[in-house]
Amino acid sequence: MALATKGASSTSQKIGQLIDYASATLEQISPTPRLDAEILACHASGLSRSQLITQTHHALNDSGCEQLRLLLQRRLKGEPIAYITGHKEFWSLDLKVTPGTLIPRPETEHLVEQALSHIPPDRPFSVADLGTGNGAIALALASERPQCQIVATDIADKAIAVARQNALNLGLGNIEFRQGDWFAPLSDAQFDLIVSNPPYVRQTDPHLVEGDVQFEPTAALASGAQGLDAIYKLVTQASTFLAERGWLVLEHGYDQAEAVRDLLQGAGFSHCTMYRDLNDQPRVSEGRK
Ligand code: GLN
Repeated sequence: MALATKGASSTSQKIGQLIDYASATLEQISPTPRLDAEILACHASGLSRSQLITQTHHALNDSGCEQLRLLLQRRLKGEPIAYITGHKEFWSLDLKVTPGTLIPRPETEHLVEQALSHIPPDRPFSVADLGTGNGAIALALASERPQCQIVATDIADKAIAVARQNALNLGLGNIEFRQGDWFAPLSDAQFDLIVSNPPYVRQTDPHLVEGDVQFEPTAALASGAQGLDAIYKLVTQASTFLAERGWLVLEHGYDQAEAVRDLLQGAGFSHCTMYRDLNDQPRVSEGRK
């Protein structure tokens, strides 16, 4: 079964069959063809995922079929699902994403968990999220800790615009977004905790030109020959912007834990600890001023 092509006369087609077709087609390019097909079908039909499952006989009209065909074409060219739909879920929040921002990864939820473990639920606390992108980390923290005051920075004004929009959509008022390079927009403020998911991929890593990643902004992913340039900057400068006993919590590559620990210890941090992600890979490290 093929999706109606533009200009051809067609009758409406059942959504269940369309998903089967789209899923089979996507097998050549996606590790998650069925999921991708369902998300695209939701986008084209306006149905929710649960409606899709219970209403497999729902018929998509010609314009719905045409829309699904166009979405499928984009995915077949490799474009990430999140850029096609303009949305990605992170920490159970529905977030807007654009090609100007990194697509939030599930493993970054570990960074949020680790940051949250230091933030008291019932009293004011100040946090800076550096390189916030679409705001995922700051928004997750703000949603869990309403008393927390967060400043989120990013060098890309397009990212800041998306992050602001996300805060507005979610009704989260306790984040201030500022455009600028890492610490630059913080002026002389000091924070109880600084968190960041900086770019940490080696500049020559072949993954940067493969799969979904090739569509993402390189500046949000790659950072020098060892992938450590941004992390070096963050670790060596953080103390100036941390209150006494304040925490620095960072995401990094699976093979960078040792280098990050050395950097943290070299910069005088105590309580240096590394945490692994669900794949048992080193992913988050922290230290205390
Ligand atoms: N974990 C991401 C990846 O492998 C990298 C994210 C980052 O550089 N902050 O694509």
